[in-house]
This record gives sequence, C-alpha cells and structure tokens, in this order.
Amino acid sequence: MDIYTAIFFLAILAESVIRVPLNQKRKAEKKVVSQVTSREKSMLFLLWGGMFVLPVLYAATSWLDFANYTLPAWTGWLGVVLIGGSVFVFWRAHADLGLNWSPTLEIREKHTLITRGIYSVIRHPMYASQLLWSVAQILLLQNWIVGFSSLVVFFPFYFMRVPAEEQLMLEQFGDQYRSYMQKVGAVFPKL
Ligand code: SAH
Repeated sequence: MDIYTAIFFLAILAESVIRVPLNQKRKAEKKVVSQVTSREKSMLFLLWGGMFVLPVLYAATSWLDFANYTLPAWTGWLGVVLIGGSVFVFWRAHADLGLNWSPTLEIREKHTLITRGIYSVIRHPMYASQLLWSVAQILLLQNWIVGFSSLVVFFPFYFMRVPAEEQLMLEQFGDQYRSYMQKVGAVFPKL
C-alpha cells in the first residue's frame, strides 16, 4: 500500500472515531420527524460504496489495477492537505451539531437550530467536508474508477438531500432558518 492510500484509510479511521460515539448516543434520542425514503437509502448505500468499498478493493486486490493512473508527487501531497481539511471540518461539524446530527433526515424531540461555530460560516459543513474528501480521493487513490467514485455520487446526493433538508428546517424553525439562509452560505462562505 502506498503512503497516499495509507493516509486515506487513516482519515477513514479518524472519521469513525468522531462519528461512532455520537451515533451511539443519538440512538437514545426521541424523534418527532423521520423522513427515510428508499431513494435516500440507495444514495447512502452508493456513498458508502464510493467512499469505502471501492477503496478497500483498490487497496486489498489487484482487480482494479487496469484503471490506475500516476500523478506527480506534489498532487498526492495536495490530496493529503485536502483530506486533512475534510476531517477537520467533519470534526467541527460533529462537535457543533452534537445530538442534532442524523444520517437521514430527522427532527428529534429536543432539536435546536445550530447557527454557531462552523455553522456560522457555512450551513452544510458535513457536506462541504464530503466535497473536499471527494476531491482529495482523486489525488490520493490514483485510479479512474476508485478516485472518482465519491465525487460521482456526491453531486446527486447533494442535490437530492439539501432541498429536502432545508425544507424540513424551514418547516421546523421558520423565519429563524430563513434569515440564517440569507446570512450564511451553503458549502462556501458568503463574502
Ligand atoms: N447539513 C448539515 C447537517 C447534516 S446531518 C451539514 O452538512 O452539516 C442532517 C441532519 O442535521 C438533518 O436531519 C437536520 O435535522 C439536521 N440539521 C441540519 N442543519 C441543522 C442546523 N443548522 N441545526 C440543527 N440541525 C440541523
């Protein structure tokens, strides 16, 4: 395994350490709204395939070697910087959102609107982190199939998830969320 692949899996480990304990605690929380569609489930399954299953096949087998490419070393290190940034944003988003986080669209009984910390800079830091990750994956896992597998799934996921999520937030928090949307950008900070 090369250094870039090793760093990619280290980043997966870091994200698991951030998410797993929160996911355990979250399960004890009472939900008042839960929107889980089969389209949403399929999208999460594809994301898991692109971010984890294909990278494992790339690292552990030679099945996908026919599609390998080689980039100059500096681009690999740029990938390391980007995946580091992605893990940082992921960590801050989990720290600030806390038990309001859920993998599918949910409102819990004690849900509060978070607009502080990294949520004062962008509305969707977890999805911004995922976008950074997807770009980093192209530079770290140098294979036409595996390198691009996260980015290819990211766009349909994002454009399916965000309108539904913002609709839910507007129903729940009304004008408070409306003015938050006016002030704070989605995945890029507003200038
Ligand atoms: N889109 C956010 C959160 C992803 S987790 C991000 O990218 O960081 C998805 C859940 O977070 C949704 O079920 C929604 O209920 C909740 N959520 C999204 N934005 C929120 C906010 N600003 N405050 C509280 N909960 C939020």
